Amino acid sequence: MAEEKQGSSESKPQTETKPNNNNNRKPNPNRKPNGNKPAGEKSSGNKPNRNKNRNRHGRQPTPVDENLKSFVQKNQEGHKQRLNPHYKLDLNSTSKIRITPLGGLGEIGGNITVFETQNEAILVDVGMSFPDEDMHGVDILVPDFSYLREIRKKIVAVIITHAHEDHIGAMPYLYKEMQFPIYATPLPLAMIGNKFDEHHIKEARKHFNPIEKRKIYEIGNDFKIEWMHMTHSIIDSSSLAITTDAGTVIHTGDFKIDHTPVDGYTADLHRLAYYGDKGVLCLLSDSTNSYNIAPTPSELSVAPALDRVFSKAEGRVILSTFSSNIHRVQQAIQYGVKYGRKVCVIGRSMERNIEIAMQYDYVKFNKNIFIDADEVARMNDKDVLIVTTGSQGEPNSALFRMSIGEHRHIKIKPTDLIVLSSRAIPGNEGSISGMLNHLQKAGAKVATDKDIHVSGHASIEEQKLMLRLVNPKFFLPVHGEYNHVMKHKETGMMCGVPERNILLMTDGEQIEIAPKYMRKVKTVKTGKTYIDNQNNHQIEDDIVMDRQKLASDGIVMIVAQIDGQHSKMLAKPRVTTFGIVANKQDKAFAKEMEDVLEHFLIHLKDGLISNTRALENDLRQIVRKHIYRKMKKYPLIVPNVFVQ
Ligand SMILES: [Zn+2]
Repeated sequence: MAEEKQGSSESKPQTETKPNNNNNRKPNPNRKPNGNKPAGEKSSGNKPNRNKNRNRHGRQPTPVDENLKSFVQKNQEGHKQRLNPHYKLDLNSTSKIRITPLGGLGEIGGNITVFETQNEAILVDVGMSFPDEDMHGVDILVPDFSYLREIRKKIVAVIITHAHEDHIGAMPYLYKEMQFPIYATPLPLAMIGNKFDEHHIKEARKHFNPIEKRKIYEIGNDFKIEWMHMTHSIIDSSSLAITTDAGTVIHTGDFKIDHTPVDGYTADLHRLAYYGDKGVLCLLSDSTNSYNIAPTPSELSVAPALDRVFSKAEGRVILSTFSSNIHRVQQAIQYGVKYGRKVCVIGRSMERNIEIAMQYDYVKFNKNIFIDADEVARMNDKDVLIVTTGSQGEPNSALFRMSIGEHRHIKIKPTDLIVLSSRAIPGNEGSISGMLNHLQKAGAKVATDKDIHVSGHASIEEQKLMLRLVNPKFFLPVHGEYNHVMKHKETGMMCGVPERNILLMTDGEQIEIAPKYMRKVKTVKTGKTYIDNQNNHQIEDDIVMDRQKLASDGIVMIVAQIDGQHSKMLAKPRVTTFGIVANKQDKAFAKEMEDVLEHFLIHLKDGLISNTRALENDLRQIVRKHIYRKMKKYPLIVPNVFVQ
């Protein structure tokens, strides 16, 4: 619990500081009544005794102008007030707000956070994340909605900061179960709409409430929310100012501070500063790049590298990046066109995102620069730019299929230049490397130059700027694994937030914040739901666990036939194993277990035979013990008892 005492720094601002009100100073005989002149004007008289006041160097000390000095004090007081606008929070208020991250902490991705007052709740972002390698057959992870089911009646809205998958990817899964009004800027809504269509819940679009930035929306009875424009690796991103009776909470969303964004729309630092000056209760800020010392370069900084690539390329250029990074795609296309190339867009998400960006006037391209994939073969290689998905080496992506020669239209040639304008998302390094091997075996050159990609997240210096602008009383670093938020905490302390006013949350922890205190109040259920992308259906946890067992420890099948009437075995049990011993040892190993089981069944007590369930359990236990003793493995064991 972090509680701030009401010390002197918490006190009310001094009412009015009168320039003449200086009781400590002796009257100066040379000064006229009310002669307190504005700073800068020479002070008159004040002749000190030469001998008495010589300092130890023998030099005459410069006389201290007490009036000047009083203005130093006034300015120091002013700094104190300016840097600590928390007195503007109503410390007598009994209002509080509760914040519960259900995803996005202790992990990268899967962002979803609940903000709750006494009677109402809003969700900020509903994102997905990616599975670990041992979650076989799982394509995406969706947050566990248990807590949302619990507070369903309180939820008045879903609020979206931006259109990245880790912030909107779980929307269709939530909306198949429960629906709420959705408030967001147009691009996130357009992208969510596409998801709803894909999942056959088109009608959920009726919950859309497009918003204008810099306007304050009253949502439910308890929330006032403003979307403030932010720069990030996707266009139309926002930070949020969420005001309740407890005060204003600023949620940065994902951000970097780009002073020269491609579309010229810089981050709305003025609005952040406005709230900062008014007094902010709490800041939740993006911790993804907490370790980066160098400021994150502007999106525009990749332009020279792209120009260089296109000016030198002699064959086709195949460029892959995150399909959501519209400005990157836009710049790639601009430079391709500059060097006389036609553009072929390949990959479902890339085609869709460019289409949306053009439909909604986020980018403008002449339609005649685009060609279809089946036209590429008829063009001169030098006249072609292919923009495609697959920068993470995803096996279903267009670039990966090209790399293994399985793409319908595009076969890799030795003259091709592949440009990966992206960074490896942690965990994807292996698949990217595998794809690069394929591409290079096919003879293509690959450019992965550092200056061809920039991050979309704030480095330490930008995090500092955010902290200083918002000047929060309490600080919750979010978005990142534990070590990221920990590092962000250090930065917060450097920027004047006392350590006791910073909490490091993990998923499921509920934090209560009031003007006087911030504390952890309880923990709610969190976790992940596994999704199979082929059919968009959930995979139950036990299936994934069975698959893990199968993959790591193998499987044992037991078949036993029992004569129910006479309570005895009809035939010796049969055991079959996979993935436990080599084929040539299989028979001997199976026989060993069959002997153990036979011994057990012969000596079985009467009555137990009739209970097939109990019998299957016994067989399972016997085999499990036996295999663990011999192999130190816990395979999946499948007993089948037939009673006749
Ligand atoms: Zn993002």
